[in-house]
Amino acid sequence: MTGRAGICLCLAEETLEADLRHVTALRKRIDLVELRVDHLKAQERASAGRLPRLAGVPAILTVRRTRDGGLFNGDERERLALLDRLVDAGFAYVDIEEDLQAPGLEARIAGAGARIIRSLHDFSGVPHDLSSRLAGLARNRNEIPKAAVMPNTCAELARILHLFKAHQGKEKVFLGMGDIGFPTRVLAARLGSAWCYSSPTAECIAPGQIDPIALEEEYRYRSIGPDTGIYGVIGNPIMHSRSPGIHNRGFAALGRDAVYLPFLVPDLEGFWAVADALEIKGLSVTVPHKQAVLAGVRDRDALVEATGACNTITRKRVGAWQGTNTDIQGFLIPLRAAYTGSIPSSLAATVIGAGGAARSIVYALASIGAQVLVLNRTLEHARAIAADFRVEYAGLDAAGLQRARRHADLIVQTTSVGMAPNTSADPAPELRFSGREIVYELIYAPQATVFVKRALQAGCRVIYGRHMLLEQAKRQFFLFTGAEYPSDLSEFLADDPD
Ligand code: NAP
Repeated sequence: MTGRAGICLCLAEETLEADLRHVTALRKRIDLVELRVDHLKAQERASAGRLPRLAGVPAILTVRRTRDGGLFNGDERERLALLDRLVDAGFAYVDIEEDLQAPGLEARIAGAGARIIRSLHDFSGVPHDLSSRLAGLARNRNEIPKAAVMPNTCAELARILHLFKAHQGKEKVFLGMGDIGFPTRVLAARLGSAWCYSSPTAECIAPGQIDPIALEEEYRYRSIGPDTGIYGVIGNPIMHSRSPGIHNRGFAALGRDAVYLPFLVPDLEGFWAVADALEIKGLSVTVPHKQAVLAGVRDRDALVEATGACNTITRKRVGAWQGTNTDIQGFLIPLRAAYTGSIPSSLAATVIGAGGAARSIVYALASIGAQVLVLNRTLEHARAIAADFRVEYAGLDAAGLQRARRHADLIVQTTSVGMAPNTSADPAPELRFSGREIVYELIYAPQATVFVKRALQAGCRVIYGRHMLLEQAKRQFFLFTGAEYPSDLSEFLADDPD
């Protein structure tokens, strides 16, 4: 592997034949495979030695114990005997754990011309003594240290990123598991990991694993290197986000050395250290951080000041972020298109929700002269928006829905209710559509929420969240790159509500 990071396909089926089918299907996309012998049925384990010859790429031999996240629950002598039997089969690497003391096996591995991957796992957190354990992990220069640990916060992810730096230039495979650790997998080359473990199916073997096709096509894995510029979206939840697809496609079309990643951020205060460690250049900001992010953003444009909501931050220099709001234009462009260019000045609109997105929408509607009613579960939040933008407000209840009948040209749904994964939820099940309303749904995953499906059934025209998503993303892309968004996005905009 030459300065770039490889893709290692984890094989964890019950039979060797099933494992080999994955290799055949993905061989062009992978650099090596890891055979998880502990996942094979007992009667299949004896034939595991056939794999290196049939795989056509270098293979790692692994027999993982249950305490390290594997399925081998037999006695340790049995496990060592199995490893010993397979060592001569032509595996390029043998993965053995940090605590294993088996000089005989280690000599056999060296004699067979294979290298040892010395591994450390923690599926529950980031060990407090990780730094010292990593320092002594590889027992000689021929061993490759591997650490797979589970960050539960961004502060823990930042600790992992600092360990990458501390081991810069050394051969290693480090990764953070789970959704918070996800960027460490995609950024293997940027961070200096020798490869990224990937899963052939959606049922990944370790949390956060990604399949080779998504790695290469959605995340441009093969073009990532030590100097790649990092962008992304912060939110919670975030893994459903379509933004990586939009921005990475744009970077590819422009030939930029850049990648855009989802960052799951439960602790915004801990995230700033991640942003510094990765020297992140620009971020989209989504639910629930559009207001809270302002605590870390001193330089704000007029739209951010006016709305109190920020969906885009770009880094001017270390620790100095500039905040912008592209949601306002992103919202208005599809609305204008629905009215074929000119939105009636007498528009009476109901906005459901009073979060960060609603602030931008109410501001946008008020700025074009619409009569706006804000309905929200928490009355206090609706009151605050109403006071800021001089509009009406009510609770998201029977009385509020009654008032909404007088603000029914346009209904904008801005809550997160109905968003994946809770797609069966409806923010206002008591709201009855007449069929004359234009319904604008901000949620884009799923493409058609339960709320939208009800509106369509009643005969309403619908503006889907993906249209706003794309428009606000195009403006973000310009802020990130200084270039117009180039790609043909008809595929993304296909009207195929699910
Ligand atoms: P946010 O600041 O967290 O606000 C969430 C809103 O949802 C609040 O009004 C909240 O009401 C309401 N809510 C949450 N759970 C509720 C429940 N169980 N019942 C009733 N109301 C509930 O989020 P945001 O940043 O405004 O984003 C909201 C949604 O808009 C997200 O789905 C986001 O993906 C989407 N969005 C899409 C685009 C796009 O380009 N298409 C752009 C921006 C946002 P309370 O005040 O009572 O908590």
